[in-house]
Amino acid sequence: MEGIQRLRTMDKSEIKIAYFSMEIGFDGDIPTYSGGLGILAGDTLRSCADLEVPICGVTLVSNKGYFIQQFDKDFNQIEAPNNWKIGDFLEPLKATVTVPISGRTVTVKAWKYDLPGITGHKVPIFFLDTDCEENSEEDRKITYYLYGGDRRYRLFQEVVLGIGGYKMLKKLGFYDIEKFHMNEGHSALLTVELRKDLVSDSSWDIFEAEVTTKVQNRCVFTTHTPVPAGHDKFSKDLVNEVIGSYLTKHELDLLCPDGEMNMTLLALNNSKYINGVAKKHGEVSREMFPGYKIESITNGVHSSFWCSDALAVLFDKYLKDWRKDPFTIRNAFSIPPQEILEAHTENKKKLITYINEKYDSGMEAGVFTLGFARRITAYKRPFMFFEDMERLKKISEKSGKIQVVFAGKAHPNDTDGKRIIRDIKLSITKLSPFMKLVFLDNYNINLAKTIVAGVDIWLNNPQPPKEASGTSGMKASINGIPNLSVLDGWWLEGHVENVTGWSIGDREALYQNIEVEQKTELNDLYGKLEKIIIPTYYNKKEDWMRIMQNCIAFNGSFFNTHRMVYQYVASAYFD
Ligand SMILES: *Cc1c(COP(=O)(O)O)cnc(C)c1O
Repeated sequence: MEGIQRLRTMDKSEIKIAYFSMEIGFDGDIPTYSGGLGILAGDTLRSCADLEVPICGVTLVSNKGYFIQQFDKDFNQIEAPNNWKIGDFLEPLKATVTVPISGRTVTVKAWKYDLPGITGHKVPIFFLDTDCEENSEEDRKITYYLYGGDRRYRLFQEVVLGIGGYKMLKKLGFYDIEKFHMNEGHSALLTVELRKDLVSDSSWDIFEAEVTTKVQNRCVFTTHTPVPAGHDKFSKDLVNEVIGSYLTKHELDLLCPDGEMNMTLLALNNSKYINGVAKKHGEVSREMFPGYKIESITNGVHSSFWCSDALAVLFDKYLKDWRKDPFTIRNAFSIPPQEILEAHTENKKKLITYINEKYDSGMEAGVFTLGFARRITAYKRPFMFFEDMERLKKISEKSGKIQVVFAGKAHPNDTDGKRIIRDIKLSITKLSPFMKLVFLDNYNINLAKTIVAGVDIWLNNPQPPKEASGTSGMKASINGIPNLSVLDGWWLEGHVENVTGWSIGDREALYQNIEVEQKTELNDLYGKLEKIIIPTYYNKKEDWMRIMQNCIAFNGSFFNTHRMVYQYVASAYFD
């Protein structure tokens, strides 16, 4: 708790923490994010602003955004560039730095956004940009496409983020940075630049043990996924080609043990404080990376950002100060359940009006509505709900009408993900005579806000244990929406059966025979919808309202970034 004490008494005018993330998403109109990682970064910095943590963000400007999702008539995803007018949102800075890339000297400039907190404290976010006159056509595009291009392009971006970001902070005059927080391994090259900086006026080797200790004391690393594709690796040849001029032969060898540079290992080896993003993910990460001390801090969402307007009115009335202190939300039991339901109905009507106007779906506010929205990729098993369409028909005939809202983008190179979207859209067509279903285009922050507050239940069925945390279910919780989810990530901590929602599958499942497990899970998903969830929704309104209240009180009060930031402050930032 020393860290909290220090935060209370310190001079807040000097930036002490630099938070590096490949993507930061904090505003629906600023498309510098792709999904969970970036939105977590945005929510984190927003809570830091509220709690007056002297931190700044460092990211790439992503001139062309992620992409705008469209579809052709055969349900193929089409990716349109999301050209945005940077100057309309961000302030240009004069400072420039250079980074070495493939023997060239590439100029990097920066833009700034001041993210304001509730007390007026501001958290600056620096967006690095190589679209400078000094650079070649190719180099100007390095910061264009978030997660775009090939391995070489990705390494260029990580050089700009890690090395360029570190240099930019120095250039901007931030000399008091105590900790560099790497949100995922993309920025891990900052540790090399930090080493070079630490030995700059000596003849020390940058990999000297004492330098390593110093670097570790300055670095914090959060790992975000057990999925191998989420851990960037670059071949030694490529590293040599791109930053060989920046490294001695000896340094290159040490950076690329076993013939490659692994960004996760680079971050692990250079950080004293390392964490996963939920308790279970901490365990999984310790198994994946034996020999490292890995803690866990469970993710959260920014309460007032993700709370719908209709519920915020209620919170303002019954839970004074909840915006400043979301622990207050624990007292949601003081809100009359009927008023929660009314606020939810308002949100639901808003969602349904949006859907009917845009997709002519004929959805109705009185019908039980299930929501599923997230990145469409194989391990999230987005198709699972559609596996047995006959059974779905029977459930809706027997237990009550169902409406279904789906959304999500597949990464442009994820051919499996794109196929899954086609399969989902095809299933929607086949099922449409029996129930109303819709796939909403272009899932993003604004759409997420409308969906997570407007549906009646939030479905999540990734393949355990691959969901590190998951955050969309937390956004649903703060809006009083129960989860129906496999027991993975945050839900292992937030699930109380029939109280905050329902589980899919068994808490003790070992996931050794995926096919058998999947059958059990599917049975559970359909069985609970049929026998418990839909009947409760239609026939036991009192019970349903209680559950909504529980979601807010138990989970809304805990799974937020204010609590999360306090944990980083106490354990990682100001030790
Ligand atoms: C919250 C959010 C995500 C992440 O959701 P998960 O449940 O972690 O998969 C992704 N995209 C958008 C637009 C979001 O708002």
